[in-house]
Amino acid sequence: MPEGDTVWNTARVLHRALAGARLTGSDFRVPQLAATDLAGWTVRESASRGKHLLLRLDDPGARSWTLHSHLRMDGAWRAYAPGERWSARPAHLIRVVLRSSAAVAVGYHLHELALIPTAEEESLVGHLGPDLLGADWAPDEAVRRLAAHPEQSIGEALLDQRNLAGVGNLYKCEVLFLRGVSPWTPVRAVPDLAGTVALAQRLLAANRGRWTQSTTGVLRRGGTSYVYGRRAQPCRRCGTAIRKEELGERVTYWCPVCQPERE
Ligand SMILES: [Zn+2]
Repeated sequence: MPEGDTVWNTARVLHRALAGARLTGSDFRVPQLAATDLAGWTVRESASRGKHLLLRLDDPGARSWTLHSHLRMDGAWRAYAPGERWSARPAHLIRVVLRSSAAVAVGYHLHELALIPTAEEESLVGHLGPDLLGADWAPDEAVRRLAAHPEQSIGEALLDQRNLAGVGNLYKCEVLFLRGVSPWTPVRAVPDLAGTVALAQRLLAANRGRWTQSTTGVLRRGGTSYVYGRRAQPCRRCGTAIRKEELGERVTYWCPVCQPERE
């Protein structure tokens, strides 16, 4: 599931493949950019902000641009060596190809693909709360934003990228299990918001640099989570069957014993 850590890792892959490179060609397979040609442009850097990817480039006139993309549930970028087979996903999912003499970056099933002046980046990511994996991570501000909506369920509040940027459904479920908080708890009744936010940051940060997302410390298949994806399986702490239900627009997983309802 692409969450903040996956997007951070993806930004690093793109940075290693393309930063400093002059592009020799591009191929956009989305209508809004079909006529765009980035040949001769230079890639400055690749960065992530929450779940948004920002590839920053300079055009031949030295103006700064940002190619924005969002992975949502199913998007991905892959870097290949020139001549290597593009094996990650089916070709019909390709939305953009960026070529340099040393690498080819292929974006699959990307969302919100847009090329904008870097000076206007904030129009796409300015609404985001503090980035859990950003150099400017500001936990106090994340807590303040969460606390501003006291009646919202903590399960929905953690997913709202305007509060803090980077938590998706997997980390939401896992953080709340580890804190012993039901996802339906209103924000005002969460015993330690600062501790919850700090734990979310630690869990994401621990998975930087690897593609397996584990909150248990176990990397083998079937052992990577406490509750996420484990409906009807026994809770690793108390043995109760893990439950799965809709919460807002997303499903949530939780242990009814370890995460009692609070008011
Ligand atoms: Zn339990």
